[in-house]
Amino acid sequence: MSTPARTCDDGQVASGAVDVLVVGAGFAGMYAVLQARRHGFSVLGLEAASGVGGVWYWNRYPGARCDVESIDYSYSFDEDLQRDWTWSERYATQPEILRYAEHVADRYDLRRDYRFDRRVTAAAFDGTDANWTVTTETGECHRARWLVFATGSLSAPNRPDVPGLDDFGGLLLQTSRWPHTEVDLTGRRVGVIGTGSSGVQLIPRVAEVAARLTVFQRTANYTVPVLNRQFAPHEWNEIQRAYPERRRRSWASLAGTPHVAYHKQYAEIDEAERLAAFEARWREGGVLFGKTFDGQAVDPEINEAARRFAERKVREIVRDPQTAEDLLPSGHPVGAKRICTDSGYLETFNRGNVELVNLRRDPMVRITERGVETARASHDLDVLVLATGFDAMTGALTRIDVRGPRGDVLAHTWAHGPLTHLGLGVPGFPNLFVLTGPGSPAGLSNLPLAAEQQVNWLMELLANCRQRGIRTVEARADAAQAWTRRVDEAARATLFPRADSWYLGANVSGKPRVFMPYIGGFKPYADRCDDDRDGGYAGWHVGDVTTADAEDLAGPRSEPPAPVRGGPRTAT
Ligand code: FAD
Ligand code: NAP
Repeated sequence: MSTPARTCDDGQVASGAVDVLVVGAGFAGMYAVLQARRHGFSVLGLEAASGVGGVWYWNRYPGARCDVESIDYSYSFDEDLQRDWTWSERYATQPEILRYAEHVADRYDLRRDYRFDRRVTAAAFDGTDANWTVTTETGECHRARWLVFATGSLSAPNRPDVPGLDDFGGLLLQTSRWPHTEVDLTGRRVGVIGTGSSGVQLIPRVAEVAARLTVFQRTANYTVPVLNRQFAPHEWNEIQRAYPERRRRSWASLAGTPHVAYHKQYAEIDEAERLAAFEARWREGGVLFGKTFDGQAVDPEINEAARRFAERKVREIVRDPQTAEDLLPSGHPVGAKRICTDSGYLETFNRGNVELVNLRRDPMVRITERGVETARASHDLDVLVLATGFDAMTGALTRIDVRGPRGDVLAHTWAHGPLTHLGLGVPGFPNLFVLTGPGSPAGLSNLPLAAEQQVNWLMELLANCRQRGIRTVEARADAAQAWTRRVDEAARATLFPRADSWYLGANVSGKPRVFMPYIGGFKPYADRCDDDRDGGYAGWHVGDVTTADAEDLAGPRSEPPAPVRGGPRTAT
């Protein structure tokens, strides 16, 4: 068994035990703090950043904006909040979304329950008094009955294992840790590594000002113009009028948004109508192109038709044939990696000051003091930007030393992939809950609604426990195995496992290849959570942890749970 987490002396405990401790002040954490308070719990929030907003606090790179329309990508729980906030454009930029998060924090006075600049490094459960002790980097200790990790699925930056990264003599930036002061890239020689959603948003903005921009692309991605626009003031009346129905449809949907696929089935229509449907979606803009037809994420024929359509668009836009060829995604189905949304991305490669380096043909050898060395050339740079993504879904949690009462270490329990019941609980870790993480639909759904659904469910459980005098709740091992298997099976029924995506952990070397989010849909997931509740929380041990429970749950403690997923790519 591994060494137990450092425990806190009484003198180090910063405050008396609270009922609920929430880690994270993104959309999920803020809503958890608010609802815990509204349910009458004492609550403390801890956040590594200096303010609220989560993703929108950290990702301040030029061009950052949401890819779900802002009128959907916002809280739905309070109609007054919804009415009082006006989005200026269809897809708001990072500063506006951060202002929204700050507005929410002000409106509900959330900061009074938060401590900022507190990175949680460890958490240990004490079975004798059924409390978690949570330790921060600053050395503070806090105690709580219920521990809620709202640490985000895309919050742990992925630093690429490229040789020589620390040797670079210029300015090294990372999109997910962008400086809070303005970075002037005017007239500079800039390199960008990474062409996922972040890189695709950043690159056109850098190209406008840099003397020279070199884009290092390992994998070309599908990208669709976002077709953003400002809202005219008169549109707000109509948006407000339509909001209740829009939200109703979103709550009943598969992805937490009100949109539907083309009204006819692909097989029922001829080629001309299919092309017209793809074109209409393309002109609508954004990620919905990935869902033009029902079954596009499952049926290789429909997906291939979407791929051909997107390929034509690339060739139409990009003038140099070799560059166009290099920008064509190959080897993964449309939508199996998050579709990028852009404002002039492909057009950027028609500029004289922009060069695309296809790392598949010209591999990166090392970073040097002067820039990037590939097999064929040396690229001298003043600034190097890493748009290299995240250790997604599990990274924020496995970086914390989380220990259960019987010596379980979360990072070990998840060594072969995350094991959760409904994405909310982990066997071996009583009174610990995870929001918007693996096993939940959050990574594939409109996040604010996904967070609201989980928090509402969780607070009902905790209120129920308080009413019944229950001190501990722990996900059952059998329920977690069954749910984890279901998450895997749902993914295998689609084309998603065919892409080396962050959904699978494939973007981080050494990470187990396991499909982590629940792809079965937002509403079906919410229904499963409700079934669990209506069945008397059948997937949970509810009550104090006894020795018998421990035996029942734990099995042999020295072994991590057997992998129930992974293996060959067998998606249809
Ligand atoms: P986060 O916003 O990631 O918040 C987690 C918080 O926990 C962070 O503030 C972090 O600092 C804190 N934290 C983590 N570890 C610790 C620790 N050990 N101690 C203390 N604090 C800790 N999703 C959509 O649905 N639509 C979009 O348009 C969209 N756009 C996106 C754009 C970008 C650039 C990125 C990166 C993601 C985007 N996403 C989008 C996904 C995004 O993750 C969610 O929408 C949402 O912001 C996540 O909210 P959250 O509260 O779950 O997590
Ligand atoms: P990402 O999609 O994982 O993309 C990372 C990029 O870096 C990929 O192109 C990857 O190439 C490349 N890369 C990583 N390591 C590399 C290496 N060693 N050498 C060369 N290239 C390397 O990350 P992201 O762009 O930050 O986006 C992550 C997710 O955040 C998105 O999928 C989306 O859900 C969300 N997001 C949304 C928006 C938005 O539009 N609202 C904006 C940003 C982020 P490979 O593909 O070959 O690994």
